[in-house]
Parts: sequence; structure tokens; C-alpha cells
Amino acid sequence: MSTAIVLAGNPNSGKTSLFNELTGGRQHVGNYPGVTVEKKQGTHISDIGQFDIIDLPGTYSLTAYSLEEVVARDFLVNENPSMIVNIVDASNLERNLYLSVQFMEMGIPVCIALNMMDVAKKRGIQIDIEKLSKLLRVPVVPTIARTGKGKEQLMQAVAAKAHQKFEPLKISYGQDIDIALDKMEAIIKSAGFLTSHYRHRWTALKYLENDQQIIEMGHKEDKAIALKLDQIVQKVTRHLGETLDAHPEGIIADQRYGYVNSVLKQGVIKFYHDENRLQISDKIDKVVTNRFLGPVIMVAVLMGLYHFTFTYSTIPAAGLENVSTWIAGIAELTLPDGLLKSLIISGIIDGVGGVLGFVPLIMFMFLGISFLEDTGYLARMAFMLDRVFRMFGLHGSSVMAFIVSGGIAGGCAVPGVMATRTLKSPKERLATLLTVPFMNCGAKLPVFALLVAAFFAEKKALVMILITMISWMGALLVAWGLRSTIIKGESTPFVMELPPYRLPTAKGLLIHTLERTWQYIKKAGTVILAISIVLWAMMTFPGLDEAQLQKFEDKRMAITSGMSSQTLIEESLLQVDLLQAQTALKNSIAGRVGTAVEGLTRFAGFDWRTNIALIGGFAAKEVVVSTLGIAYSLGEVNPDDTTSLSQRLKTEEGWGPLTAFSLILFTIFYSPCFVTVVCIARETGSWKWAAFSIVFNTTLALSLSILFYQVGSVVLA
Ligand code: GDP
Ligand code: MG
Repeated sequence: MSTAIVLAGNPNSGKTSLFNELTGGRQHVGNYPGVTVEKKQGTHISDIGQFDIIDLPGTYSLTAYSLEEVVARDFLVNENPSMIVNIVDASNLERNLYLSVQFMEMGIPVCIALNMMDVAKKRGIQIDIEKLSKLLRVPVVPTIARTGKGKEQLMQAVAAKAHQKFEPLKISYGQDIDIALDKMEAIIKSAGFLTSHYRHRWTALKYLENDQQIIEMGHKEDKAIALKLDQIVQKVTRHLGETLDAHPEGIIADQRYGYVNSVLKQGVIKFYHDENRLQISDKIDKVVTNRFLGPVIMVAVLMGLYHFTFTYSTIPAAGLENVSTWIAGIAELTLPDGLLKSLIISGIIDGVGGVLGFVPLIMFMFLGISFLEDTGYLARMAFMLDRVFRMFGLHGSSVMAFIVSGGIAGGCAVPGVMATRTLKSPKERLATLLTVPFMNCGAKLPVFALLVAAFFAEKKALVMILITMISWMGALLVAWGLRSTIIKGESTPFVMELPPYRLPTAKGLLIHTLERTWQYIKKAGTVILAISIVLWAMMTFPGLDEAQLQKFEDKRMAITSGMSSQTLIEESLLQVDLLQAQTALKNSIAGRVGTAVEGLTRFAGFDWRTNIALIGGFAAKEVVVSTLGIAYSLGEVNPDDTTSLSQRLKTEEGWGPLTAFSLILFTIFYSPCFVTVVCIARETGSWKWAAFSIVFNTTLALSLSILFYQVGSVVLA
């Protein structure tokens, strides 16, 4: 039996030389059917077997622009050889590998003959062949075709791999094209469109590349399907034109170069100099991904993004808040006291405000991220951080989500969860979005501030750093745990596309930002409003019964009639109000739950008052502070000024540094606020993961707090 192989590669890479070396005299020359392109056929016989070899015309690409390309493509598709021996000019790796990528995308087994090794050596280019082979996941054999050096090793590698299954290379062409590709692939597959000749994804790709040959064939095969595909192509073409001012085929080419670029950047080449269009990008990369400067620039960019998101978004956010306060004010004045008023103000207006309140944040974050993504810097950042995050089963791109969620302290997990969209692998994305809520968002800070001021006033900075470290460690360890158990699975391949830098258009950024923001409002809005009302009901119902209300009324009567000083009366009346609020809260559904679980939470140092506050924190973490205020009958405490509550806790029995830190731990780890939970459900497309994040995080938090409190009690005793 003989094995059919083809020699393919760029013109002048040494195909014919290698062909002659391998076949000796056993060859004959003809033409490819119907065209005047020379076809050389021959056989190679050695002790490992017999090989039928074709010397394919040299090409730089596999589009349908030239006769050579069409011939080469058709031959590969129609004859389906056992292996493509891809001759690569080692002295001109980048351009040559661009074609290799396209061979690997076809799904025919590929073996690379790294030719012109003598020329490369003379020019001082050193290539780490083993690494190149590992990254590309194909055999790479160094050769010098002119002298025949390396041909035996090459044929051994060919024989070893020729009949094995070959996983076609699947690179990412950016979100827009990837999504279109998936859609088209599904249509092609279910219709069996052109399936007799081409792999599904390849056909889809060629459609996006506007490949006339395939489009014509498709049109003949099935007009309806062809039209459907064409519509998808047109849509994504229009979108890319608007956002990036580019055509799909341009982006596809960029991403292929980006893939090659990334392979070469991983230490494959020691000395590298090539006159090509990527030069400016390469120059930028020399600085931006430099071993020392790179991290510094990255930290600066991350801080910049953070600052941009959370500082500038406060301007429209404050405007929105003013509007909602203004509407609440009108409701306060016009509605009669009672449940309806409470529902409208605390349930609906707060709820709508809660939905819209995140909009500026999300907009600014996506604007920042779109900018980093569209310029190409995001890919570099991911590239640099990938090594670290990979250890925990995450991806270099995860860093954005962590930072936005409060990795530096004071972010927000809602945009954080949405920032995970830049991750392409579903499993890494899931692990990231489940662990970003452990970061210290801006709403947890007032809780920490309260407790630190009361119990660790002298070591403020130290405790805050400790909190940040604990949340990062916790997040990474949990990610690692999830990735080695329930979200097990392969990481994305180590090669990330590093496309050339480009300047994004303002219009493009705007479109990307508005699209994503609108998705948040549309997808999360109604649910958030509904849950806000439910939470309001939990903190309000069933309220106090007639007898209890009467008791407070009697007290008020006694005060007004029994005292003479007006100030004293007012003070005492206020005390009664606060006491009533506290009693009502304790009697509410949330209060009853808080009291019921006291038996368990006692081991972590939390009594019913803390429990209610923590339940309130599910609405938004800063509510922990204001609810603690009511529970300690101090009235609603402003999260921005917690002095009175700090003073109170300091002197309260059962409170001390141990309880305080136990509560800090719990606050870091327990269930994300419900807006985040809704976003998790929306982004994963499943309420299962939303429920998971509530149950798992709370269980983890309680276990940690109990462990800490119990060990702490023993140590301190
Ligand atoms: P093809 O266009 O891919 O068929 O390339 P050829 O086999 O015609 O080679 C192009 C030129 O490169 C010829 O002058 C060859 O002698 C030369 N050549 C091929 N392989 C090597 C090599 O490994 N080292 C050197 N120095 N020259 C080579
Ligand atoms: Mg030739």
C-alpha cells in the first residue's frame, strides 16, 4: 500500500528541490486537468514504505484569487491526500506560517518541513523547533532541501502521522465573526450543504472570506441555503464595516497573522527581523509586551480602565440618582402613608433606580473594554497574564472581570460578570464569572469601613490589604476548585491570536457599547425590578399586629402627656419610633428567618440582628449597614457615615474583633447581591448557576466564618 502525500508551501520555499530529493528519477510531469499549471508526480520508496508524492503549485494563501490557489485547493479537497507536507521557509517564518494555518484549518493532517535551515542559520535566526511543534501541534522537521538533509527524518514523521485523525485548527476570528461562523456552520451542517466536498466550518469561513468559487458552487447546490448564508455574511459585513471599518476577510487575515504572531512571540525565534506590514505592531509590542515594561504598562492601563469606569460613570449616575430621589420625593409628598407608599418608594422606585443605577457603570466599562479590545491591547494583556491565571483554570482575559468587580477594592460585580464576555472558552468564562463576586465591590466597603473603624482602628490599612488578599486568594482557589471538579475541561489552546494593532473608530466603540448596555437593560431589567419588590416585602411583612401597634401608641401618649419639656418629648418619641422600627423588622419575614438561623450562625458569632442585616445585604451589600442600624434601633444609618453605629457596636455585648472579622469574612464570600445573581443567570443562560452562586458562596462563607470564629475563640481564650 502506498501513502499519498502532497508537498505544499509558498513559492520558492524549496518544494521542487525536496520533491526531486525524495523521488529521484521516479517522476513524471503533466498538467492539472483543464489548466496549464504544471503537475509533478512521483514516488518515494524506502524501508518505511512507499509514498506517492505530488508537488503542489506554490501559493501564499488558499483564497480563490489565483489559478494556483484554486488548483492547490481543489486538489487537496478532491484527492484528500493522507498528509500535507508543508514546506516552510525557516528564514521567512511568519509569512510562511500564514499558509500553514490555512492548511491546518482544512483538517488534512499536516507535517511541517522547516526548510532553508542553512539560510536561517546564516542570518542568525535561531528557532526552537520543539516549541514550534508543540504550539502548532504538528510535527516539525528541519530540512535543507537543496542537499537532501533531513529528508529521512521527515519521511519518518510523515509515516508516523499520515493516517491518524487530525483535529482541524480552530482559531478565533473575534466575537462577531465567531458567532456568525457558528450560526452558518449549524445551517450548513443540518442542510448537508456542499458537505460532499468541504468541512462545514471551512465552507462557512470561505463564505465569510467572500470566496467566489465556493459561493458559486453553493449557489448551484441550494439557492435557499446559499441565500441564508449570504444574509448572515452581509449582516456581519455591515456590522464590521460600521464598528471596525473593516471587511470580514481583512479581520480573518489579521487573526490568522495574529495566531502566527502569538506562536512566534512565545520564544520560538531568537532573532527575528522581517520586512512586513506588521512592523509597526511589532515595534509597539516590543515595548508593550516587554518583560519589565509590559507589566507596568498593564497595571497602568488596568488602573486607567478602573478609574475611567468608576469615576466618570458617577457623573451620569449622580444625575440618575437625583432624578430618582426627586421622584421619590414627589411620591413621599403626594401619597398617603401606608403600604402602597412604602411599596412605591422602597420597592418600585428603588428597584427601577437599582436597574438604571448600573447603566452608567456598564456603559463606561464596556466603552473602556471595547476600546482595549478593538485596539488589540486586550489580547496582549491576556497573553501576558495567561501563565498565572492558567494555573487556576482561568484565562489571561479573566483579569479584566476581576479588576472591574473590585480586585483593587471598590468595583462592582455586575459589570464584572458582564466583562467575562471577552472570554471565549465557556468553561473558563463560567469559572471567572462565578468567582468575581468574591472581589471587594464598592458596596462591601462601607461594611468593612464600619467594622474596621470600630475594632481595628489602629491597623486600618493593614486590615484592608488583608481583606483584598483574602478575596483574591479565595477567588483563585475557588476557581481552581471548580475547574478541577464540576467545571472540569480543557483550557483554551495556549496560542492566542495577537492581531495587529488598529485604531478603533468612535462610531464603532459607541455601537459596541450601546449594544451591550441595551442587552443588560433588556435581559436583566424586569427580573431585577421583580426581585426588588420581593425583597421589600420580606423586610416589611407581616408587620406589627393591632395589639403591638396599640402598645407603641400608648407609649407615645404617655410621653406627650407625662412630660413638660418639648425637646425631651421629641427625643423620647424618636426613641419609640426607632424601637417600633426595630420590632417591626424583627417580626418581618426576613427577621423571622434571621432569628430562626441564629442557632447556626451563633457559631460564627452572628446574632439575629446581624443575620437580618446580612439578608438585607442580598438586596445590595451596603444595606447591611443601614439594616444593622435599624436592628440596633439607631434608625437608618447612612453608609457614608457609620460613626454612630461603630460607637454602638464597640460597646455592644457579643461584639469584638473576633466577631467583626468573622463578619468581614462572611461579607467577602457570601451570596452575591441579587442584581449580580440575575446577571449570572443571564450571562450563563441558566438559573442553575445563579442558584449555585447563592448556595455555594453562602455555605463557603458560613464555613469560613465558623471556622475562624471557633478557632479564634479557642486561641484567644
Ligand atoms: P519551490 O518554488 O518551492 O519549488 O522551490 P525550489 O525547490 O524551486 O527552490 C527555490 C530555490 O531555493 C532554488 O534555488 C533552490 O536551490 C533553493 N533551495 C531550496 N531548498 C533550499 C535549502 O534548504 N537551502 C538553500 N540554501 N537553498 C534552497
Ligand atoms: Mg517548484
